[in-house]
Amino acid sequence: MIKWYKNIKKADILFYIVISYVLIAGAWWSYLLYIKNNDAFEAKKVYLWSEYVQRGATEEEFLKSKVFLDLEQQYTRQQWMIQGEGVVLLVLMVAGIWRVYQGRRKELDLARQQQNFLLSITHELKSPIASIQLVLETLQRRKLNPDQLQRLTHSALKDANRLHKLVQDLLLAARMEGGYQYSFEILDFRKLVNDCILLTKPKFKGEILLNIDGDLAEKEDQFMLEADKTTIASVVLNLIENAIKYAPDTDKIILNLLNKKERLWLEVVDYGTGIPKTEKVRIFDKFYRLGDEHTRQTKGTGLGLFITKKIVEDHKGTISVHDNEPQGTCFRIRLPLLEESI
Ligand code: ATP
Ligand code: MG
Repeated sequence: MIKWYKNIKKADILFYIVISYVLIAGAWWSYLLYIKNNDAFEAKKVYLWSEYVQRGATEEEFLKSKVFLDLEQQYTRQQWMIQGEGVVLLVLMVAGIWRVYQGRRKELDLARQQQNFLLSITHELKSPIASIQLVLETLQRRKLNPDQLQRLTHSALKDANRLHKLVQDLLLAARMEGGYQYSFEILDFRKLVNDCILLTKPKFKGEILLNIDGDLAEKEDQFMLEADKTTIASVVLNLIENAIKYAPDTDKIILNLLNKKERLWLEVVDYGTGIPKTEKVRIFDKFYRLGDEHTRQTKGTGLGLFITKKIVEDHKGTISVHDNEPQGTCFRIRLPLLEESI
């Protein structure tokens, strides 16, 4: 287990020392000022009182005299001023420290993201390039029979496709962040889901089933929405492909399509190993993948869910992840329906 203090760098320690010093010094000087003001008041009071005693006045007369009342009023005002300024200073300092801390946290998040990016990209780029190189070298050096040729070109093509997907995902993620130009149209989401199932079916050994909200199974136009066809299809494809990738030896993946009045729900349910609770919030981060380079059995860049979430949110929808019973994962997206489907 990595100890928490190992993540704190020397610069951070210096920062915390300086901040603690400034806070303690601020509090100490405010306290001293408060005490000194009190002492000054007491000294003036004794001095005035001695004058009154010489004149033969009683203590009660002194305490009611204008000179003393003025002095007391001035003292009270000054004490309030010191306290008020102390509080304002403290609030400003805490706000400033909070901003600096936030900035530092963002910087650390960015560095972590960058590291994730480098780790996944290096691996994802290096291995297909290396195997394409190997195929080309083999083709150059040896005379192959048609069977071997077919096998090698098939494998090289698979790797080229992997590289193509990686570059596409990277470009899409970059465009998403810079403001992607969607082209919205009215479409039947049920048909789109069916098309996505047909596209992904060959990659899964088991069955991919679509359940439609009981009463609506027969009705047309119950899942109409305004969406960008290409990107919304990639949302559904990403979720099905994840289910296939992370629950490969199971016998079914279930898609539930529900009409919940103003919104439609699409659930993609698998029976794989599931996602630990602590990881659920992080899987939507850019380049985030579970486990590390050595333990991972699957290929990927950790961009799929980042892009998926961005697209869903740009369609005024939400995405969430839940545990499936008895095991596995359920991804649920909710999208606004057109009025005719409500
Ligand atoms: P790609 O960019 O090719 O999609 P990826 O699948 O690793 O790569 P995401 O789709 O963003 O990236 O998923 C992020 C991580 O979430 C995955 O690496 C995986 O660990 C976890 N994950 C996603 N879907 C599932 C699932 N259905 N079951 C278990 N784990 C999942
Ligand atoms: Mg994925």
